[in-house]
Amino acid sequence: MKFEAIKKETVMLMPQKEPALQRTPSEIRIDPLTGRTARICHFMKLAWEKPDFETLVAGTDAWCPFCGEKVHQLTPCFPEDLIAEGRMQKGDMVIFPNMAPYDSIGAVAIFGARHYIPMTEFTPSHMASAFGFTLDFFRRVAASGHPESVYHIVNWNYMPPAGSSLIHPHLQVFSSSSAPYLMQLELDASRRYFEQNQSTFWDDLVAAEKAGGERYLKQIGRTHWMTAYAPMGVAGDVLAVVEDARCTLDLTEPDLIDLATGLSCVMAEYDKMGIYSFNMNFFTGTAADGHFRFHLLFSPRTFFSQALGTPDVGALRNLFNETVCMAYPEEINTMLKAAF
Ligand SMILES: [Zn+2]
Repeated sequence: MKFEAIKKETVMLMPQKEPALQRTPSEIRIDPLTGRTARICHFMKLAWEKPDFETLVAGTDAWCPFCGEKVHQLTPCFPEDLIAEGRMQKGDMVIFPNMAPYDSIGAVAIFGARHYIPMTEFTPSHMASAFGFTLDFFRRVAASGHPESVYHIVNWNYMPPAGSSLIHPHLQVFSSSSAPYLMQLELDASRRYFEQNQSTFWDDLVAAEKAGGERYLKQIGRTHWMTAYAPMGVAGDVLAVVEDARCTLDLTEPDLIDLATGLSCVMAEYDKMGIYSFNMNFFTGTAADGHFRFHLLFSPRTFFSQALGTPDVGALRNLFNETVCMAYPEEINTMLKAAF
């Protein structure tokens, strides 16, 4: 396992300071699996001002399509050959087709009737139950023999900075034969790694991170938590790899609880930095991908300038797909470890 980085230094003269010569380090990290590059630079204290949530949320329930009876009136239904009852329901959680689908089978799962749930109020049992509900949906898709029943993916955009246009907490749920770009890169690179090394990259990564210790957080059941070596988020990424699980449908009930427990720890610590928004994606292979391990990636989202609404994605990330993280993942690990 090679953790490579190209170290750089910027030399500046700061006329108002003594000494005027300032040296600012930065580095370009190379993802050990895909070769994707990630910049660790633009250093700042990971502390943000949270908005006034009462003002932010006020009135948004009035036009929320997921609130109250509207979720049963305004949302579409699945065709009968896929989900005969139209929408799936479990308690107050509902799964229905995504009106703006990204693929043939695109659904939305709402966490329940509550319109606004602060990040720190998601309990492990609630999140595990929501994930379990999406697995029920995926099993129905698989049982229908649909050709798109290949990769079963859950994405979570929590709150507007992460790309959510609604406050009401929900998951993006889709089954697809077309792996998203970065997941496909990982699948291809994992296969190559397996052929070259006769071992699974993900098992080797867990072993290396566990031995190294500076990015490993904790093992919870079969899930291994760590800060990503080459993160995509400006405040780092947290990775959870599930031992022996190749795909979403390999996840057991205890795995879902363990994943949800780890997530709640991560959320609690990022909350202390003023973060209140995140993306979370499932990365999955198929049941036949012995070279792959199911993992989820949690990536906090924020603004470069909250006052101006400047997002944390600029030209470097958007057009070069070159990422920027504003602290060393090893330091972020120290900050997150408190919760684990
Ligand atoms: Zn709502």
